[in-house]
This record gives sequence, structure tokens and C-alpha cells, in this order.
Amino acid sequence: MKREIRTTMLMPAYMQAFHCIGPECADHCCTMAWKITLDRDTFQTYRASQDSALQPVFMHALKRNRKAASDADYGQIVPQPGASDCPMMDGGLCKVHARLGAAALSDTCFTYPRTTTHFNGVLSQAATLSCPEAARLALSSADAMQWVEHDGVVRESACLPVYGQSVPAAQQLLQEVHHTCLRVLSAPELDLWQALALLAILCHELTPLQAQHYPVEKTAQVLEAFTTMLESGALNSSLAAVQPDLDAQAILLGHTLLNGRSLHRAGRHPRFADVLARFSSALGDTPAELGKRYPEAALRWRAQVADAGLEYVLRNYVLNLAFREVFPVQGKPEDKLAALVSALVAVRGLCIGLAEERGDVSLEDMQLAVQSFERVCQHDSTFIGKLAATFSRAGLQAMPRLWPLLRL
Ligand code: SF4
Repeated sequence: MKREIRTTMLMPAYMQAFHCIGPECADHCCTMAWKITLDRDTFQTYRASQDSALQPVFMHALKRNRKAASDADYGQIVPQPGASDCPMMDGGLCKVHARLGAAALSDTCFTYPRTTTHFNGVLSQAATLSCPEAARLALSSADAMQWVEHDGVVRESACLPVYGQSVPAAQQLLQEVHHTCLRVLSAPELDLWQALALLAILCHELTPLQAQHYPVEKTAQVLEAFTTMLESGALNSSLAAVQPDLDAQAILLGHTLLNGRSLHRAGRHPRFADVLARFSSALGDTPAELGKRYPEAALRWRAQVADAGLEYVLRNYVLNLAFREVFPVQGKPEDKLAALVSALVAVRGLCIGLAEERGDVSLEDMQLAVQSFERVCQHDSTFIGKLAATFSRAGLQAMPRLWPLLRL
């Protein structure tokens, strides 16, 4: 039996209201479009089950993963011929949950869409916005991303330690780095693009230190210099002078959304395919067409979003990603920044396309763009990494090129 604890966690406010809506869900997660992994305990429990309704399904639908890197992906659920849903699904409900209870679910099924991290003694929890209900709540108002402390249930085996082996001083410092990034992304006096432009500077300074396992003294110096720079407003006039490079944005968007990889993934995700089809019908289905139509559409969208008071939506999206992924300290900071910017550019582009196709901006379309894009990223863990690698290879992290790409 998995150990579960009820405890207080740091989380965005929308998490307090989140619960799975099961059969009401417009894009449920129990689908074979992604690999549903089973941890070792769950796999063995299912194999030994004598439940009359489940045992025949377990017989055919469980497969041992011989190349498993750890007990977490010991086995997996395999699709049944002609079926796109998980074979455990029955009328929109999970048969394992119904007959054996939540405790019998694998870590993957028990936790989705939540991610729980344990960092410097603090438990934090957020949801991936690939879940439509999480996306609806997280993008419903600016307040949805206020930080709160709230009780929740955590499975110990599914809680991800962050820098658990580091000395306390290093953990403390990296937590300060993470919290500084969240503060910058939430700062009302900064536009989202400005916040990301400033964080690019921090990530650039942190990247060589990550390779040295973040020596405490040097890392503290970088953080202090960054904080001083923020407080002094030394870059305000440089940021104010930046002009958007709409042509470069269109080229990047074409590489991101109109490439073979995206189209291939769209084939496996009907919602994303619909979004991409609407995007293409409005902005073109070739990079050349996109280059012609994007600049005016982008400026129209910017004005519509401001009029509708929806500027917070993409900020909430990026904040949620940064919080959930412990940005930028889990991995190489410059890569993390490239991934964040790539996701923002892609989702913003989809939002522009949907608004153009509909004739106006709408919250529902923005939620749809975020959720469908995140679903593709969730089901293919290499997708956003490849976009980010393309971004980095093109040298787009250099400030003179990055800032005009970010600004709209
Ligand atoms: S995607 Fe979210 S709301 Fe939909 S079935 Fe899964 S957890 Fe529930």
C-alpha cells in the first residue's frame, strides 16, 4: 500500500478548487495517446488481482517494461486493438478506481495532473494545464495564481525531491533564486515579456554555475547582483526602447507550429489538430503566408487582449509552468529559459490565430490554446525540449535578438 500523507503545501490559489470532473471532461487524460506507466508495486498488485471484472483486463493490458530505468516505469498499460482510450475506462470512469479505490491507482494515475515537489523543506504542488479543468481554473482570473498554503494529499512515492542531496545553504540559495524568478514573473509593474527579458539575464549568469553545482558564494553574488539591478531599474530605459520584431516572431512561429513534428503530433491529438487547423485557416499554412499575415494580426490581438482585460492569461500560464518546474534550477538555466520562451511564443501564436479566425479574442480560446499545446508537451516529453534546442541553436537567447522576439 502506498503511503499517503495529508499535509500543508504551497500552491497557486486555483489548486484549492481543483478536482477531476471525470465524465464531464472535454479532453480526458485516460487515453492511449501517451504512455501510461505503472510503478513496480502497482504492476505487481494488478497482476496478482483476483477481481472478477478487472482480472481479464489486467491479463491483456499490462506489459512489463524491460528497459525500465527505475521502479517508476516498471510496466505500462498497452492499448487494445481499435481503442484509443485506456482499457480500464468504463463509461467515462476508471474501473480500477471504482472497484479498488484511489489507493490502488498507479502513481501516474493517482497524481495526474498534479506535480508535487519537495524543495528545501517546502512541499509545493501545481497542476499541468494539459488538464482542461486545471487550465480553466488557472486561467480564469489573475488571482488564480496567488500563492496560498493549503492542505492536500501527497503520495510519498510520487513526490519529486529537488536538490535533495545538496547542502542546506545551497538548497536555501537555489530556493531564493526560484522565488526571485516567480516574483519577477508576477511583478505588476513589468509586462510578461519584460519579466522574461530580465530573467534571461539571470539565467545567462547562472548557467556556468550550474555546471559547477552552484558554488554557494558565487551563486549568492549572482543573485545579489541581479536583485540590485532589478531594484535600481538600471535596465528600464533599455527595455522601454525595445521594438517588437514581428517578422522574426512569424519566422519562429512557422518553425514551431508549421513543422513536420508539430503536424505529426497534431495527428494524435484531435483538440490540438483543431486548434492548428483554425490557426492555419486564419494565418496561413506555410511560413511564407504566415510571414505576410502575422504582423497585423499580432498587433490587432494585442489591442483586443488589452481591451478585454485578458493580459493576465499568458502570465498565469508562464507562472504556472515556472512554479511547477522549479524554474530555472532544475536543469541548465538557459535551456529552461529557452523552453519557457518557446512555449510562450507558440501559445501566444496559437491565441493570435484563434482570435483572427473567430474575429475577436476570447478567454475560452486562450484556455483552449494553452491546454491543447500543453497536452502535446505532456504526451511527448521531448517536444518542448526540441523546440527549445532549435531556439538555442539559432542564437535567439542573445539579448539583442531575444527581447524583440518577446515583445509584442
Ligand atoms: S484531464 Fe483532468 S479533468 Fe479531465 S479526466 Fe483527466 S484529471 Fe480529470
